[in-house]
Amino acid sequence: MKIFVMAAKVLKSLFLKPATLGYPFVPRVYYKNTRGKIAIEIAKCIYCGACQRKCPAQALNVNKAEKNWVINRLRCISCGYCVDVCPKKCLTMENTYSVSATKKEEEVFSGA
Ligand code: SF4
Ligand code: SF4
Repeated sequence: MKIFVMAAKVLKSLFLKPATLGYPFVPRVYYKNTRGKIAIEIAKCIYCGACQRKCPAQALNVNKAEKNWVINRLRCISCGYCVDVCPKKCLTMENTYSVSATKKEEEVFSGA
C-alpha cells in the first residue's frame, strides 16, 4: 500500500512549483523584515562596548583606545541584540546577506 502513497506523492509533485529557487538566475527576494547583515555608522559610535557585551555569539570586538569596531560575520547569528542596545542608534540590521568570502576575515571599522 505504501507504494501507492508514494506514487500519488510523486504524481502530485510533478504539477507543483519547485520548492527551491534557480539561483543565481532567479534572485532571492528579501523582505522588509529579513534579518540580514549588521551595518554601522562608525562616525556615531562612542565605543561604549554595549553591543559587544550583549552579543551572544561573541561576534563583536570594540576597542575604545584604538577606536575600532570589529565584526566577525561568520559568528554573527543576526539576532539583532546589538542593534537594540546601542545607545547612539548607529547599528542597523540590513535586509540583505553578507556576500560570500574565500577567507575567514573579520571586518574592521575604524573611527580614528
Ligand atoms: S553599542 Fe553602539 S555606540 Fe556602543 S560600541 Fe556598540 S556600536 Fe558603538
Ligand atoms: S546581530 Fe546578534 S550575533 Fe550578530 S553581532 Fe549583533 S548581537 Fe552579535
